[in-house]
Amino acid sequence: MRSKFNKKAKQTLNPGGPKNIVFAVVFFVLCLGLLTKLTDYSRKVANIPYSAFLQKVEEGAVKAVNISGQDVYGEFKDGNKFETVIGDYTKNWDLLRTHGVEFSIANPSSSLSFWHILLLVSFLMTPLAIWYFIKQAKGSGGSGGSGGGIFNMGKSRAKLFMPSTIKENFNSVAGATEAKEELKDVVDFLKNPEKYKRLGAKITRGVLLIGEPGNGKTLLARAVAGEANCPFFSVSGSDFIEVFVGIGAARVRDLFAQARKAAPSIIFIDEIDAVGRHRGSGLGGGHDEREQTLNQLLTEMDGFETTNEPVIVLAATNRPDVLDKALLRPGRFDRRVDVPYPDLVSREQILNVHIKNIKMDPTVDIKKIARGTPGFSGADLANLVNEAAINASKQHDRSDVNINDFEEARDKILLGKELKTIMLTEEDKKVTAYHEAGHALVRLLQPIDTDPLYKVTIIPRGKALGVTHSLPEREKYTSSKEEMIHEIQMCLGGRAAEQLIFNKLMTGAYSDFKAATEIARKMVCFYGMTDNLGPVVYSQNQGEFVYSQKTAEKIDTEVQNILEDCYKKTYQLIIDNKEKLEKLANALLEKETMYASEIYELLGITPRQDFKLN
Ligand code: ADP
Ligand code: ZN
Repeated sequence: MRSKFNKKAKQTLNPGGPKNIVFAVVFFVLCLGLLTKLTDYSRKVANIPYSAFLQKVEEGAVKAVNISGQDVYGEFKDGNKFETVIGDYTKNWDLLRTHGVEFSIANPSSSLSFWHILLLVSFLMTPLAIWYFIKQAKGSGGSGGSGGGIFNMGKSRAKLFMPSTIKENFNSVAGATEAKEELKDVVDFLKNPEKYKRLGAKITRGVLLIGEPGNGKTLLARAVAGEANCPFFSVSGSDFIEVFVGIGAARVRDLFAQARKAAPSIIFIDEIDAVGRHRGSGLGGGHDEREQTLNQLLTEMDGFETTNEPVIVLAATNRPDVLDKALLRPGRFDRRVDVPYPDLVSREQILNVHIKNIKMDPTVDIKKIARGTPGFSGADLANLVNEAAINASKQHDRSDVNINDFEEARDKILLGKELKTIMLTEEDKKVTAYHEAGHALVRLLQPIDTDPLYKVTIIPRGKALGVTHSLPEREKYTSSKEEMIHEIQMCLGGRAAEQLIFNKLMTGAYSDFKAATEIARKMVCFYGMTDNLGPVVYSQNQGEFVYSQKTAEKIDTEVQNILEDCYKKTYQLIIDNKEKLEKLANALLEKETMYASEIYELLGITPRQDFKLN
């Protein structure tokens, strides 16, 4: 079905139709625009932060500047060129004058004329472009799949960074201990591909870095390249999406060919969801192109299996849920690395990385700043330091940054963040801490057959305010009644803790109840785990109940009984261990994320102690 559709879609794009001429014109203009942009970027001009610019002016290191609107282009006395963006330039006249900087002002609108000329030129050249387009398209026999399209359209747009230009290594990434640990294998493979070849070991070729923007996915990928000392091809998923069917696929092919040539090497695909969305989910014609691109990506990754070149593909996304399942199969992106919002300790470490080049007032307590910035991403923290430095130099004309500068910067960033994400009040945080502590405690006190506790966090993520993770020790194919009961009790632990401590009922436990109810219903309907209903499967067939109303009522009663019984026992368990609950909740408020071992130590219990819940 799908392939048929493909062919049809391709035909509408075959050369010759009047539609294509319009396409060609638009395309050519775009191309030219892009080209100028690219050459613009490739100029050797350092882009420096505004704060650095001011500092350089004060040091007398700046020779001359040209100001156009908020853009500043300038030259240092040592001949190097730079550019920066300024807030309000009228305030800088005196500063520039006192430090003897030559300055001139350009009318920002005059740069438009450049674009006018560009447009004119491209329209004049359009006939030529059309001729080229038709000739090339014909030559390659249809538009699908051909890599040699006009003007290198099928060439990959990836930026290549040679090892000598990559300054990042694992030390540049603060916190993210788990992610770094996971990526060590990858580095080792890139460094010693021969070893792996000799051993015939299966290694991961694709790693999915999962996390919200600004938490260091790109940074980690570059750090891997830095550690392995190998070339780094960087591209964004959206770079593959084009109007023309086949161009994206050709770019993928070209990118992988280049990477193979440069092997050992790394391909980094940012925002992979742009190409990797599950197939058949697009609207209109655009998705046909994306499917081909995705298929090409899958083909290239499967190719690794036979060719053995040490090329690793790292891909970043914050939407793993929308990815096509085919991408996640073994041999493709079969490893997932979480890059979460930083916890308290990580935030402190990230801040310490970013204040390295800044003069700090000695009274500034970084730990305190870290404590006051829950929910900040790594990028937010970098921004915080930058803003604080600007506050110090611009607003207060000081050279060292003090705590007030940080407070001001934080308020400003928070204001921007509040619009986008939930910010927890102290009260919310406290409730969440007790709630998660409740889950964790139940899990800890459960006997050996349940999944061991892994970590607990009260850092909000998506809709969840906190999460308690357990890690299965092995794949489980069957569960006993006991295990299912324990699972339900673990689900209810959050609410039980809330009820005991705050003595009121809150809405946060909805998804816990849903999960618990589902398990209980399965016990009753599928596994015959109740005495009253016996070993019968009560299923729903295509939405229709295949059992009587009376049975339905019985089922509901049984489910309710199980849940109520479980809740009672869970509540009692929490009461009996209130002291531990308090301890754990308070520790969570302090640390935000805790691993099982820390919790065992804190509570003084041996791992997997055989406590009986009955
Ligand atoms: P992502 O790719 O996840 O959107 P980036 O890697 O682009 O995030 O991070 C943006 C910036 O935030 C980085 O360049 C760095 O300055 C800062 N940053 C993020 N995470 C960290 C970290 N763990 N340590 C140090 N800096 C970080
Ligand atoms: Zn919960």
